[in-house]
Amino acid sequence: MHLLYLDDSGSIANKNEQYFVLGGVSVPETSVFWLSDQIEKIAERVDPINPRAVEFHASEIFGGRRIPWNRFSKEDRIQIIKDVLLVLKKAYSDIVVFACAIHKDSFPNDDLMSKAFEDLSSRFDMYLHRISPPGKYEKGIIILDKSTYENSLQELAKSFRMEGNRWGSRLKHIPEVPFFVDSKASRLTQLADHIAYAVFRRYNAGDLNYFNCIEDRFDRSAGVIHGLAHLQTVNPRCTCPACLTRQ
Ligand SMILES: [Zn+2]
Repeated sequence: MHLLYLDDSGSIANKNEQYFVLGGVSVPETSVFWLSDQIEKIAERVDPINPRAVEFHASEIFGGRRIPWNRFSKEDRIQIIKDVLLVLKKAYSDIVVFACAIHKDSFPNDDLMSKAFEDLSSRFDMYLHRISPPGKYEKGIIILDKSTYENSLQELAKSFRMEGNRWGSRLKHIPEVPFFVDSKASRLTQLADHIAYAVFRRYNAGDLNYFNCIEDRFDRSAGVIHGLAHLQTVNPRCTCPACLTRQ
């Protein structure tokens, strides 16, 4: 069983932002504890007395307005965001990253959350298909942060089921609709938040600082990057890794 933790970055409604990103990390069940523990160790550095109270939320860390982040310099806060992402450097190769960056103005009439979710769930399904041994079906579950999108995604999941079980027939390796968890309780949802933030900063602000920490972790095979999608209609010659790999 593989668990795909997802979170979003960028606001769909905010006209000052060009991008909306959904992204996260796929982790085999046997590595969930190890990976969570790597992030717990960073929490112990941030607050040795009460590490459980530390919740890693990249945009809040960067902003530095709230406890405990207001105790750290800007340089230290940027390094903390990177340190969370860099736990992936030590991970086994079967821990892989997925993200979908949507240029909002390219799709003015679409429900962007549903679009990103459909894109990533089918990428995750194809990944599971590719890594399945002959005659076997590797299974996956998608876990999202409880957020304002919970209702719309539950509706999407419901409509998948009502349309003649479109969910089950389309996604052969993902037997159940997504689960929603409180990110406070899940270090891996917090890691997903940082991955979405890294991709958002790359596309929305041209800031490669965080993206460079995870670029080599996107699902790929035979030289093609499958784990990263850049959905846009404005630049057919885009040279980002997602567009280049498909040219
Ligand atoms: Zn691109």
